[in-house]
Amino acid sequence: MENIETNGFAAMGLNAILLKAVDASGMAAPKPIQAQAIPAQLAGQDILGIAQTGSGKTAAFALPILQKIITIGDKRKGKTARALVLAPTRELAVQIEETFRTLAKGAHISTALVLGGVSRIAQINKMQAGVDVLIATPGRLTDLVRDNRVDLSETRWLVLDEADRMLDMGFINDVKRIAKGTHRDRQTALFSATMPQEVATLAATLLRNPVRVEVAPQGTTAAEIKQVVHMIPTKQKKQVLSAMLKDETLSSVIVFTRTKHGADAVTRVLEKDGYNVAAIHGNKSQNARQRALNGFKDGSVRVLVATDIAARGIDVVGISHVINFDLPDEPESYVHRIGRTGRNGASGKAITLYDPAEEASKFKAVERVTRMRLPLADSPIDLSSLPARAANSDQRPPRREGGNGAPGKKPHRGQSAGKPREARGEKVWSNDAGAPANKRPFRRNKKGFGAKAA
Ligand code: AMP
Repeated sequence: MENIETNGFAAMGLNAILLKAVDASGMAAPKPIQAQAIPAQLAGQDILGIAQTGSGKTAAFALPILQKIITIGDKRKGKTARALVLAPTRELAVQIEETFRTLAKGAHISTALVLGGVSRIAQINKMQAGVDVLIATPGRLTDLVRDNRVDLSETRWLVLDEADRMLDMGFINDVKRIAKGTHRDRQTALFSATMPQEVATLAATLLRNPVRVEVAPQGTTAAEIKQVVHMIPTKQKKQVLSAMLKDETLSSVIVFTRTKHGADAVTRVLEKDGYNVAAIHGNKSQNARQRALNGFKDGSVRVLVATDIAARGIDVVGISHVINFDLPDEPESYVHRIGRTGRNGASGKAITLYDPAEEASKFKAVERVTRMRLPLADSPIDLSSLPARAANSDQRPPRREGGNGAPGKKPHRGQSAGKPREARGEKVWSNDAGAPANKRPFRRNKKGFGAKAA
């Protein structure tokens, strides 16, 4: 019997295997990004997609890639990948591979993951015979190409996912070099939640006459998400947060902090107050991160405390609340953060704890990027009712905006005063996916990849 839900997909000309998988995965009618991007890609066009995680963009590029590969059949050359998807973080890459596997169910499609932070051996072995779809973070892939473990010369389909974040993380040169190593006759899709000049410039160099697909105006936020900003002095934020979590309607919560140090501090307080909480940030091992994420997904962890980079692309259905413990350094991150809730049309709530004395310029920047006036409210908790812990910290002098940790304290090892560790760490080391190109010694070979320096 014909399934009405998949009619939209069938009309796009997707083959029967894919339609079956789409149906089985519970995907309803095509989402707007899919309705626009799939037919264009099937017709061979490049895509410039402005869309957040949650818009359905993964299937929007996965389905046309799979359709093409299924049509070509099984022949593969060693170490090559027919399609390459680049993602900024390991978590996002893992999720993309899951989507490919789900949608390729019933077809003979091989996928591989090449990511930093885990052993290279299994990745090298997997690539030995060649794969259909390779999903990779740019740092590790650059290493494996340089070492001749991966050959991109047969890659005729390239996807850059979350390009804005990839550039934020300092991957621009890796991305350009990787793209250069692919087949010159390739099809390319670039997806980004925001379109700063740097991304537009990259898109102009990598894409040929792209079809521009935009599902929400740049920097605006999903309509389903209710946003509220509570004005709370920084020194009382932890206790306010803990008190807010007594409300059980906050059933599945991501708390965002600007720094790893902040994430750990918040986690400690919530743990002490008896909440099921886990942290996810770049200083945690890949296993610890995956464990935290799995716990959050299966509901055993109620509160996930995350930094911006670590949480990129996290796709957990049913997140009831996003809480911005502080405002991000980059206003675009606000859009990414709150996009974790209100997914798939579900309603969600984004709560920001905002200290006007310290974060006014960041707040203005967020309003500029979202082109919204965010509703300001007082603390939901009576601040005078909070226990003495906060009163003690009243003795401290106020923190400088952009600083990390209390002033007067010696900066942490390797931390320069006044500059957030994570901001520095993310930009310089991109430790979500290995060391950056500028720290890795290489000589260029003719494909532009460096040969390992002796
Ligand atoms: P993405 O933006 O790719 O991270 O997708 C976010 C979520 O939307 C994933 O959980 C998908 O399973 C889901 N999804 C994607 N396309 C559809 C669709 N057409 N109908 C319903 N859910 C979808």
